[in-house]
Parts: sequence; structure tokens; C-alpha cells
Amino acid sequence: MNIKHTDITTIIVLNKNKQHTKSLQIKTKHLNRLWHYGFGILAVVVCLIGGILYLKHQNENKEAEKKLLMAQLIKLKGAVAAPKADKGVSAQTYIQSIQLKLQQINEYLRKRGLKGFSTKGVGSSGAADGAKLSDKDVYLNYDEYLGRLVSAVGYTPMGYPRISSFTSFFGYRSDPFNTGSAEFHPGIDFKGQKGDEVKCTANGSVVFAGWYGGYGNCVRVAHGNNLETLYGHLSRIIVKVGQQVAVGEKVGEVGSTGHSTGTHLHYEVRKNGRPVNPVNFLTLNK
Ligand SMILES: [Zn+2]
Repeated sequence: MNIKHTDITTIIVLNKNKQHTKSLQIKTKHLNRLWHYGFGILAVVVCLIGGILYLKHQNENKEAEKKLLMAQLIKLKGAVAAPKADKGVSAQTYIQSIQLKLQQINEYLRKRGLKGFSTKGVGSSGAADGAKLSDKDVYLNYDEYLGRLVSAVGYTPMGYPRISSFTSFFGYRSDPFNTGSAEFHPGIDFKGQKGDEVKCTANGSVVFAGWYGGYGNCVRVAHGNNLETLYGHLSRIIVKVGQQVAVGEKVGEVGSTGHSTGTHLHYEVRKNGRPVNPVNFLTLNK
């Protein structure tokens, strides 16, 4: 090669036998920049390869991330889908409803001064009477049963109109006003001081509130199922006829009005209009 710093450079190509085969004439300035061109091309190639490798790496990362997200999504779907299943939601709803009603029953009992009963065993046995029922049907059965129980307990006179000892029981006794003869006592008498609270023993509506012969100031409450309670000899009445009263609600105050020998509460339970022994309505076990 013969390179001269002239405007034009001649490049002579020789074969193995040093015989002249070809000669090229190029501008010298281009020849001088040949290294620059070479580096330029090399730089571009390096950049391209680098870029390709970088993009490939990025893509791999994204793929991995995508896989991870998909796995999490499937997991989440599973977690969300489970409660949507009929069994999951229904069972929870029915159980909650049942528990609510049992709490209500225990509340009724507590207000009457009685101990609530245990909720153990509800939902485990009982409804398994031959035919195989679905979980949902079992829950529905219990729910319906408890619904009736709530109503029955709420509207059945139970417990004490006031917490104190009896001074007189239901049945025949010697007449306190006429010694030597017997009289029928249609209720039970509770000890008390004038002004002590007298509480209704079940939900119901007031059918009488006022002076009632020998009973003096008297309140009668109808509870459905042909049951009625009567509170006599009151010093004060605080309810009116037609008023709805709830179990445990105050209806009046202890007194000694009417045919009475001393301050006490006369309490009656009437079934179909006839007095029955209130002792049978003092606890759940009767
Ligand atoms: Zn009495």
C-alpha cells in the first residue's frame, strides 16, 4: 500500500505472486477518516447488541412479574369465590339469626328473673329425624322453631311480677276476713312495700286498668294464647287500657287497695278467663 498525503491516494492490490492486479484511487481525507468510520460502525453495533440484550432482559422480568401477578390473582379469586358459594353465606346468615333469637330468649328470661338456658347442642342434633336434610334445611328448621319459641316465651307469663317471697298461695285457705270459713284464693300474694314496682310478666296489651271490686286498683294484661295476668291491690296504676306492654315493664306500684289485709301484690294468671295456679308460670320447668 502506498499512502501519500496528497489529495488523491492510489491503493494497489497485489496477489500472492506480487503481481499487480488492481489499483484504486480514493480521496486521501476519506482514507484518513477510515479509522473513525470503523469505530463509528463498531459503536453502533455495540449499542444495538446492548439494546437488544437490555430489552430481552426487561421482557424476561416482565414475564416473571406477570406470572407472579397471575398466581396472586388466582389465589384472590379463590378467596373471594368461596363465601359466594350458597353454603358459605347461607350457613353464616342462618347461624347468626339463630344466635340472635337465642339471645332474645335469654333476655326475656333474664327480665323475668329466670336463668337463661344453654344454647349448646343447637344445630348439632335434633333435626336428624330419618330423612337426610341439607344443611340449609336444617338451619331453616331451627330458625323457624326458634322463631316460634321467641314468640311463645315473649307472650307467656313467666317469672315474678316482683322479686319477693309469697305470703299466700293459690287454692283454698282460711278466710282472713271471716275466721272459721274457707275461701278460694285465685292467685298468689307477694310481700311488698307501698310504692314497690310491679312488673308485667309477659308481652301483651292492657285490657283493664282501674278499680276492680275487691281487687282495688287493678291491671289486667292479655298475652294471646288465651292467657291473661292480673295485678291487684295497687297503690298506683301507670298504664292505660289498650297500651302495649313488654315483659319486665312497670305497670303499677304495690299497695293495699280493695279487699286487702295489708300491703302486698295479688298476682293471678288466667287461662280462658279462669284463674290457674301462677306457680306453674314462675319457672320454665313446669
Ligand atoms: Zn291475693
